[in-house]
Amino acid sequence: MTAFFWVTVDTEAGRGRSFDKWVVGKTEFGEFGVSKIIGVCDNYRVRATFFVDVYEVGLYGEDPVRSVCRQIVDAKHECQLHTHPANLNHDWSRQRMSDYSLREQEKIIREGLDLIEKYAGVRPIAHRAGAYGVDSRTLSALVRNAMVVDSSYFYSYNTFDKGFVMPRTIGRLTEVPVTVFGARLGRLPVRPILKLDLDWLPLRELLAAAERLVQVNSIIVLFLHGDSLTRTLDEKGNSANVDKLESLLAFLNSRASSLVSEDIARMSPLPVTLPLVTDVPISLRFALSGFPTLLRRTIQTQLHQVSEQKVQDLPVMLALL
Ligand SMILES: [Zn+2]
Repeated sequence: MTAFFWVTVDTEAGRGRSFDKWVVGKTEFGEFGVSKIIGVCDNYRVRATFFVDVYEVGLYGEDPVRSVCRQIVDAKHECQLHTHPANLNHDWSRQRMSDYSLREQEKIIREGLDLIEKYAGVRPIAHRAGAYGVDSRTLSALVRNAMVVDSSYFYSYNTFDKGFVMPRTIGRLTEVPVTVFGARLGRLPVRPILKLDLDWLPLRELLAAAERLVQVNSIIVLFLHGDSLTRTLDEKGNSANVDKLESLLAFLNSRASSLVSEDIARMSPLPVTLPLVTDVPISLRFALSGFPTLLRRTIQTQLHQVSEQKVQDLPVMLALL
């Protein structure tokens, strides 16, 4: 088998929300947050990478954040770094990493690494920028902090280096973009570019995409949030996203090898290709129901980015590394 899959979980509550609800996932039926994701993955002998927004100590205090970091590491999953710096410094006018200078980004990353090491006893080696807010300076700041894996690119969602989909090595840093794919309805190609996100796609489309990506020997980045399983909980305590995750892990286990950041670092450069697959068949049902929402969301994001986009100094990246 030459295809790989990587379960990644952006673990964060965000500002003005409940940490218990969005991360721990407390419900009347038990916990459906981080511990439930760990439980489902354990059942399939799959380790997940939790990108933890440790900066939420600035919103919710140290105890809940420490507790979730410990829980992840105690369960032998990965606790890595997710950067939403404003949650700690409360500079709400600068929410993305790319809003900061190189020196500031270096410091933000170091602070985050120190906190996770303090809580979990393990220093992270992998990073995902909040809101895909990566720029050339972020990559340099990661290298300067001895980070070896980054997964902050998401096709056109990041404002820097748009459209980039291939894994690549930048100095000692391996960049593994969030897996994206294009779909077709019958023979008709459809946009936008999608990602393998439990919250975005029905099981049928997730499996169709996974099948196609396995065929091209891809590294498949599966995308969850800490609250993904909680989101679809019904009044009887069943969660459609639990079913989706189980089916997807069963399929991927049979066709590809599971890996985490440590493996990616060890294997660098990755022995995979990642062509942009554009022919994943989607159903008419999804096209009519879920698709318009995704399309609207994509257009909104694009408009937002055009108004916010700043000129980034691309050549500086290589000079700095
Ligand atoms: Zn985030």
